[in-house]
Amino acid sequence: MRRLSNEPLVQTKVQEFINSNGKQHSKDRGVVLEAMKSHGHLYQLAKNFKDDKEILMTALKSYLRIHSNQPLQYASDRLKNDREIVLLALLKDEYALQYASDRLKNDDEIGLMLSKKSISALRNTTPRIQIKYTREIVFENVTVFFLSYYTDAEKEKYAKSIKKAISLIKASPIPNFKKTLNYLIQVGKSDVLLRYAGMNDFDALYDGETNNIYVNTDAPDTFRAMAVVHEFAHKFHYKHIKDSVYNERFVEFFKYATMPKTECILANLPKLGSPLSNILSRGTFSWVLKTAYEDYYLKSIKGNEYFYYNKKGEMKKFTKQELIKYMQCPTGYSATNEFEWFAEMCTLITLNQVKPSQKLTVSRFIEMVREESR
Ligand SMILES: [Zn+2]
Repeated sequence: MRRLSNEPLVQTKVQEFINSNGKQHSKDRGVVLEAMKSHGHLYQLAKNFKDDKEILMTALKSYLRIHSNQPLQYASDRLKNDREIVLLALLKDEYALQYASDRLKNDDEIGLMLSKKSISALRNTTPRIQIKYTREIVFENVTVFFLSYYTDAEKEKYAKSIKKAISLIKASPIPNFKKTLNYLIQVGKSDVLLRYAGMNDFDALYDGETNNIYVNTDAPDTFRAMAVVHEFAHKFHYKHIKDSVYNERFVEFFKYATMPKTECILANLPKLGSPLSNILSRGTFSWVLKTAYEDYYLKSIKGNEYFYYNKKGEMKKFTKQELIKYMQCPTGYSATNEFEWFAEMCTLITLNQVKPSQKLTVSRFIEMVREESR
């Protein structure tokens, strides 16, 4: 009589292995191998065979992605670094690369193979591979997309300045500025940008309607990182400030901060009857004097001296020079409009290029962003 093989017995053991969550027969290589032929997603139960290439390959062959229990993640470091294994895993599950070794994440053959599948399949490869095999590269949540053709070296150069801008924004003292780090930056040459952005006479551009940032590689690259920060600042103003670019406090602050100094002093010198709080809490500098003053009003001016009284008849006296000092009129910034002014303030602060004379305006600006942004 021909032996009918021991199949029924093995099948029983396989079932027991599966039912017991890998506790039974887990040291029996034959049983585990048999189980993996149909239950690759249970490879994590094969604890004694994490470094067994045949068992892992068997599991990978029967694994289906719907199980979301990718066998590769439970394998030994040696097998995670095995090209044959990783290529096999990627055949069925392109996201398996996240469990592969760093060496294989930077592997050209794997990069090329994934780039033919889909762009998102490359997300677990290194930036070097992403740059080489696609037109896009991802930093944080920002996708940099190359609209024109560039060599690898060019792409790497442009990506580097964009990455620098992104890390500056991440570290910026401006509250919530890093929330703008999402969506797209499209990098192109002038001819292509004319089609995409409708213009091309810029180094970088933010389009509020589409939420796109464009970077023109035909512009000199000396200040490219700075230009990118500037455009993110426009995006910040547009998207993250209450009432967007129409926020009244910033509109007012812009007028004040960009006034020529003498004009500012004339406009703000107190008049009889005006409250002291007008000066001490005016725009920028309420915190200069933290006195708990209440209701002092200008009653008289004698020469250079200003006399303020409260309801109780208590008096405070200031010289004109002191009041001017409290007003802290800044020297005017050359700014074309409040949008450019806002973006320039953000850029200046983020790049740590604040001059001593601008410090007070800058503190107030940061405070105001804290209160008005989300
Ligand atoms: Zn601008």
